[in-house]
Amino acid sequence: MTTPNANLYALLSSRFPADRSACCIETQDGLYYSWDDLERATARIANLLLSLDLPAGSRVAVQVEKSPEALFLYLATLRAGLVYLPLNTAYRAAEIEYFVGNAEPAVVVCTAQNFGWVSKIAFKSGAHSVFTLNDDRSGTLLERAAAHSDACEIVPRAADELAAILYTSGTTGRSKGAMLSHGNLASNAQVLHDYWGWSRRPPGSDVLLHALPIFHVHGLFVASHGALLSGSKMIWLSKFDAREVIRQLPRATVFMGVPTYYVRLLAEDGFTRETCRAMRLFISGSAPLLKETFESFQQRTGHTILERYGMSETVMLTSNPYDGDAGSVRRGGTVGLPLPGVTLRVVDDAGRLCGPDEIGHLQVKGPNVFAGYWRMPEKTREEFTGDGFFKTGDVGKVDRGGYVSIVGRSKDLIISGGFNVYPKEIEGVIDELPGVSESAVVGVPHPDFGEAVVAVVVPRDGASLDAGSVISTLKGRIANFKVPKQVHFVAELPRNTMGKVQKNVLRERFSAAPA
Ligand code: AMP
Repeated sequence: MTTPNANLYALLSSRFPADRSACCIETQDGLYYSWDDLERATARIANLLLSLDLPAGSRVAVQVEKSPEALFLYLATLRAGLVYLPLNTAYRAAEIEYFVGNAEPAVVVCTAQNFGWVSKIAFKSGAHSVFTLNDDRSGTLLERAAAHSDACEIVPRAADELAAILYTSGTTGRSKGAMLSHGNLASNAQVLHDYWGWSRRPPGSDVLLHALPIFHVHGLFVASHGALLSGSKMIWLSKFDAREVIRQLPRATVFMGVPTYYVRLLAEDGFTRETCRAMRLFISGSAPLLKETFESFQQRTGHTILERYGMSETVMLTSNPYDGDAGSVRRGGTVGLPLPGVTLRVVDDAGRLCGPDEIGHLQVKGPNVFAGYWRMPEKTREEFTGDGFFKTGDVGKVDRGGYVSIVGRSKDLIISGGFNVYPKEIEGVIDELPGVSESAVVGVPHPDFGEAVVAVVVPRDGASLDAGSVISTLKGRIANFKVPKQVHFVAELPRNTMGKVQKNVLRERFSAAPA
């Protein structure tokens, strides 16, 4: 008996539509790629990679702008049985030097513009080849691939063999490479395919509006795999632009975004019920969606955003329900229920199980959970419990109905005068105050309390707020030890490309600020 090929590309391509001439990707500039184009392009690139005769497990590191060809490069790397390593386009020389030095990729693909400095770093760390790929289909990767055959067997891989390494955003300390196997990615893609209703739609009837970057788990795996596994067309935007999304939405059925995308859409008058007439699903994740955004979106469009939670190390872990059967609904402010196959538990500092609604550390287990951090066996050991649960680093709770809420990252927890302060709780109270658009709460070093609570507030347009009155209002609503010692006002919160508030930046900025 032959073992089935567990290569993720084998699974994805087994679901491509029978009619390979159908449209697979349509770009905002009006380019069409058929499923046949995708298969032939990925075969050519896979053949180019295979012609390099690289040892199994070799890494292909990629820092390029988003384009259909960049997605083909990812799929070709899978197809060739090599390990894909996407890098954020915002990274500069010092960061690339670290990633390339740490991962020692055999192949590096960058833009022609960055070739000079990237190739120096790559060859210094022993890379075999450096190719270029630009977002206008030019560059040496496609030039070289054109000489190769457009047919290619999918290289056999076992479920536990490595498919990708995703470096965590690393806001504290060095970023770590999460090693994801073909099995991790395939199991999660299949679960989401069923859970989010792709599987119940007639083949080819969904259209995904793809606006996320593809160097991150959200855009590369969750969004792309969803469409590929259901043979659905993607409308491909090179980046998120609220007006372009509004222009394209009437032709789409599924959209995935980070919370900022939803805030920006709501800021556009042209975003209406009519814009969303063909839509069946809006998904949010990668950072917390404010309850206010969730509710405004419902009022404006009649759609209830489905919030889910996951991370580079595990792909998706929890999701609000797709349909409202069995009394389950999408609850704003929660990230829903553990996905089928995922076991999630909450434990206290001593590792004891917490009861319903008790806040603690989230730990998870499941076929989607990664094998460990690349070349960091110590760190890997530290992040797994004796009974095989991964410590997510997130703090949260599970209610009696099984819904999970995230309170924050454990490293963001503030300990002031010996008391635990959960930033999200304080942010929730501040956000309710008149004139407040949003807020972030951080802890800064304090000689007496160890850490002091500091609030950074974004006022609404035209609102005039002062620190003294915010503090005195909060004193009437929450325990004194939770009340910020300082309140600062800013025009906007610093966010990374995935919409996460960079609390490390705020801590640094306001640590030395006068009380
Ligand atoms: P990354 O590995 O870059 O995807 O970051 C993963 C982290 O993002 C998680 O550990 C959470 O802290 C956060 N995150 C992801 N989704 C959500 C969500 N829906 N709500 C709150 N935090 C989230």
